[in-house]
Parts: sequence; structure tokens; C-alpha cells
Amino acid sequence: MMEALQSPAQATYWFISGRLLFILLNVLGLACFAYIVTKRLTPLGRGERDLRFDRPLLRLERVLQFWLAQWKHPRYRFAGTIHILIFAGFLILATRAFSLLVLGISESFVLPDSSAGIGRFYEMFADYAATAVFACMIVAAVRRIVFKPARYEVPARYGKAHKVDAIFLLGLIAFLMLSESVFEASKAASLARQGQAEFLAVFSLAWVLQSALSTASLSELWNLHRVAYVFDVLTFYFLLCYRPFGIQFHVETSLFNVYFAKLDKGTVKPVRWGVSDARLDQVKSFGVKTFEDFTWKHMLDFYSCADCGRCSDNCPANSVGRPLSPRFISIKARDYAFHHYPMFGRASNGVPLIGAIYSDDEVWSCTTCGACEEECPLLIEYIDKIVDLRRGLVDDGNVPKSIQKALKALESRGNPYGKMEKKRADWTKADGVADIKVLNGKPIANALYFVDSITSYDDRIQAIGRATARILKDTGENFGILGASEKDSGHDVRRFGEETLFMALRDHNVEAIKASGVQRIVTADPHAFNALKHDYKDVPPVEHISQVIAREVKSGNLKLSPVENGDNVYTYHDPCYLGRHNQVYDDPRAVLDAIPGMKRVEMSRCRDRSFCCGGGGLMLFYEPQEEERMGVKRVRMAAEAGANVIVTACPFCMVNMEDAIKVAGLEGKMTAIDLAELVDQHIAREGPKVGEVKEEVVTA
Ligand code: SF4
Ligand code: SF4
Repeated sequence: MMEALQSPAQATYWFISGRLLFILLNVLGLACFAYIVTKRLTPLGRGERDLRFDRPLLRLERVLQFWLAQWKHPRYRFAGTIHILIFAGFLILATRAFSLLVLGISESFVLPDSSAGIGRFYEMFADYAATAVFACMIVAAVRRIVFKPARYEVPARYGKAHKVDAIFLLGLIAFLMLSESVFEASKAASLARQGQAEFLAVFSLAWVLQSALSTASLSELWNLHRVAYVFDVLTFYFLLCYRPFGIQFHVETSLFNVYFAKLDKGTVKPVRWGVSDARLDQVKSFGVKTFEDFTWKHMLDFYSCADCGRCSDNCPANSVGRPLSPRFISIKARDYAFHHYPMFGRASNGVPLIGAIYSDDEVWSCTTCGACEEECPLLIEYIDKIVDLRRGLVDDGNVPKSIQKALKALESRGNPYGKMEKKRADWTKADGVADIKVLNGKPIANALYFVDSITSYDDRIQAIGRATARILKDTGENFGILGASEKDSGHDVRRFGEETLFMALRDHNVEAIKASGVQRIVTADPHAFNALKHDYKDVPPVEHISQVIAREVKSGNLKLSPVENGDNVYTYHDPCYLGRHNQVYDDPRAVLDAIPGMKRVEMSRCRDRSFCCGGGGLMLFYEPQEEERMGVKRVRMAAEAGANVIVTACPFCMVNMEDAIKVAGLEGKMTAIDLAELVDQHIAREGPKVGEVKEEVVTA
């Protein structure tokens, strides 16, 4: 009679009973993991408050979408597919991993019961899952070693590459899958030798190994079975305890990171959560200066970064050689946390981050375009962190000189150019717009056209203001402007970290808007649009002019005439604060497509992957170190798409695009126009055309 195969719990290992050995290993493994995670979470306990416990149902929905369904991964098709396979494999194998661990203690424990139909079904899936994960590890390692995707590279200024760590982890996971499959295969081969059938999924790794072991003796199979089990348990716990030391910690943290992720796009976090504006003067220090000034959620972000490089791959600042790569904002902070909160010994906190791990230029280089956040599969936030770091710099009086001048002008005159308040409505001194109402506290209009500083004062951009006003008149809207009582929206003042100045500008405008008695607000400036929608409270609803035009065209209230130059090819550039931050992608396109004869193409980077023009607001006053201008890159993208007219819907994009066309040497071949200007030219009006910027004839 052949001896039955013993379960690991019944076996003896080096004179120790298997049951005792595995109880010890399980207790030791779990205790080590608990100790390591507790140590890792220590800084989170010292971080700033962050109120992320609201809207639990919405948060759960996002967990299902972004964590369970891995929503963002297919944006990088190959790497995303590999990740989805690995993730699905891990989910399927979680039950088997638990069952295997308990098997070392209780010989009859199997989850789910393999004698039942569901159990067999599960075992088959688990065999295929282990095979898929094993294969994915090999593919991922080959990709890293042979194909070396550029987004994984680490420029020297950001420290050393984590490639060896990544490959070691891939190897560990592959080994875990192998040991588990050997364990299954040796059991199946042993049972087969005894005339009993054990089902293994055909062509799975375990099935292939069973075939390979078909000639092995029973004692060899038995030894292999025991040894495979020990390796499986040791690898499992080694992996569990090793992961919190590197990028694989995201396996543990990602679920929580997605659950607690920011819910409202376009917003900026308060200076201190739970501290009202009225009590801000009691806050001793603004922003982030030391690691502990980050909120606990932002620290969790650092731990959750998988170092995949997608954020930096899409970051326009990184792409033009500015000293900023969002991926390393996370990686450097995580390495800092590991170093300053060691596993053994005391934490050494309180070190200023600027100079230690970040530079001023790095922090000022961000245009807050949101491309990094849009791309990150783990919903890691950057804009709030960068704004917080800027708040810290502003608090210490550490602001670039060119921006200081603009901030002073904003403080004294309410606009960054230092121009007189009474000249704010001078742009209306032109035919067709001279009769615009100025709502100086008088409730004489239904809608407010919020103009903002650049459109009020910049000679070129004033044309966008006049086009917008004419369109509003054509729609029959009873509207007015605030004139001298309007101040800068403060949108970019806030994003440059000057919260107190922003609050003063906001409070002034809110008062003026309320006094005007309007029921709605329209603006042609996406920055003002975003500020009025997300930064201001208690003001009427706001729309961007592209939304108004789209609605009026759809209802037939605005009729558009055909394009004059049928040779022109148009492309639409999504402004960051209209598109990514507010998801207005379709209305501007619908307006363009409503112009008869319009030939429109899309750039490779469009909609939520749009490439920032170089930034608006105070960014216009900052001269970053860079190899190329973002706008120049963008106009080249338009040329590559076959377009000779770039249409945008933001005054700042217009400044950057027109400048970039000159720098790129594309004058005469490419032109830029604002959507409002284009529509103004094409409104089918009776009498002579009133549009100022004529549709230019350019040669492709
Ligand atoms: S917000 Fe834009 S510029 Fe800033 S780090 Fe992210 S991608 Fe780069
Ligand atoms: S922040 Fe997100 S996108 Fe960027 S490297 Fe980390 S995980 Fe990848």
C-alpha cells in the first residue's frame, strides 16, 4: 500500500512538526508586517489634517471604477493590460494564498471546498491566474531590461534608478507563483501515481509542471511538495514585509488611496483643513515647509506611487526640460519618509524640504495644468501639494522677483499690470460694444460678463472681450460688466500660493457681484471660470462663453455662416482650466463643427490629454529654466496634425500660442484665433461684418 501524500501540517521538517513550524512562521510573518506598516504609518499620524471622510458612496463608486476596474490603466495599452492581468491574478489568488497559509496549520482546510463545483471552478481559475501572473512577470522584466521604456528612466538629478528593486520584486512574485504551482503539481502528480485524479487547468503552469513530474518517484514528489510549501510560505511573507520598503507598497495602500482621493476637480485645498478663512490669521505658518506639514493623505500618496512614470510622461514642464517631474515629487518625498522615519531608532523630522529634496525652481515650474493627475492610475494629487509648497515659500518671502512685482500690482490695483482701475472698461470704447452696461451696484441686468484682468487690459486680448460682448448681444442677453469694480479673479494668485491676497480679491468681487443683482455669470476666460465656479462661494452660476454659444447654436438662436477660406484646416486646443479641470470638451468642438465648411482635425494630444500652452495668470510673469517653450511644442503638434489654424478658448492660450507661432518660425503658415473671435466673424448678421480679427488666409 502506497503512503498517502501528507499535508504540510502533518509533515515533519528538521525534527519539528510542520504544524508548529507554520504556526511560528505565520505569527512571525504577520508580526513583522504589522511592525513595518505601523512604522510606515507613523509620519501619517504626525501629518496635517485632511478631511476625506465625506461622500462615502461616491468614494466607493470610485474605488470600483479606479481600483477594481483599473479604469485608467488602458490609457497605456500594453503596460495597462499587463497590470490589469497581474491585478486580476492577485485578486483571484488572494483566496488561494490564504487557504495555503492555513493549510500549514490545519491539514483539511481548503477554501473554497474543492470537492464542490464552485471549489473546482475556483481552482481552475486560480491555476490560470498563477500562470498569467508568472507570464506577466517575465514580460515585465524583459520589458524593463531589454526595451527600457523611457518613462522608467531616472535622470541623474533625481537620484538613482529603482530598476534593480523593480526587477527583484518581479522575480519574487514570479518565484511565488512558481512555488505555488510546484506545490499543486507535485500533489497532482503524486495522486496520479496512486491512480487518483486531481484536476489541474489544462496548459496552466501547474499542469505543465505536473506533466514534467510524471516520471518522478513518490518520495521525490513528496519532498518537492514539502519544500515547495516552505518556499511558498517564506516567499509570501518576505514579499509582504519587503513591499513597504519600495514601490510595491502601493499594493497595500492603493485601495485606501483611491478611496480617500480628492473628489472635486478644479479646487484647491484650504490652507489648513478645518480652519475657516476668518481664523486663518491664527495659523502660525502657511503651506508646506517640512515633511510633517503635508497632510496624512498626501503622505499616503507618496507611499502609493508605483513609479510608473505616467504623470511625468504627460507633464508639459518635464517635457520641455523644466526642473520638474511630478513622479519625483512623490519618489523623493517617499525616500525622505523612509530615511527620516527609520524602522529602528528615532524619527528625525522637521527638516526644511526646499533645499533638502526640492528646489524653488521645481516648485515654481508647475503650470497647474492637471495632466499628471489626469493620468495617474492611483489618483495621486500634485496641484494641491505644489500649491502648498508655494504657500510655504510665499510665507517665507521667497518669491521670484518677476512675480513679486505682479503680486504687488494686484494688491494695489487689483490687476497684475499695475494699470488704473478706471481704465478697466476701456476695451468697450469701440463700435458695437460702447453701449455695454456697467453694473456699479445697480441691478439692471440679468447676466454679468466677468472680463478679468488680461482681457480688460491687454491690447490684443481686448478683441476677445469685444467678440464675447457682441456674441452675448446677438443672443439677446441682458448683460453688463462690473467695470472699475471688478478686480482680478485671483485664480492664479491662489495657485501661486498667495492665499491672503486671493481672499481679498475674491471678497471684493463677491461683494460687487452680489450688489449687481445678476442671476448668472458668463466669462470667456477659463481661469476666471474656474475661480468663480470652484474658489468663490455664494455667487450665481457661471458659464464659459463656449457653453453659451453651443446652446444658442443648438437652439437655432445663433446662426453661423460658412467659412470664408475653405483651405484652412482648424484644430482645437483644449485650455487646461476649461477641459481637464472642468470637462468642457464637447461644447467648443460642437461650435466649430456648426460652422458650415469647417475642416477640423484633432491633435495627438487633445481633450483630457491636452498639452498645456505654457500656463496663464502669473505664469506669464515667470521665466522658468527650460529647453523649449511649451507653446512652441504645442504649435508643432498642431502642424503635425495638418492644421494651419489653432482655435483656443482662453486669453492666456492665445498669448502663448501667438508668441509660439513666431518663435517656431511658423508666421504666415499658422495662425491662432479665439473661439469667440471665430464665432463673432461667422455670426450670420444683417449688415456689414463686425468681427475685428479677420479669418486669415495662411498657407499650410
Ligand atoms: S500640474 Fe501640469 S505642470 Fe504641474 S506637475 Fe502636473 S503635469 Fe506637470
Ligand atoms: S504619481 Fe501616479 S502616474 Fe506618477 S509615477 Fe506615481 S503612480 Fe505613476
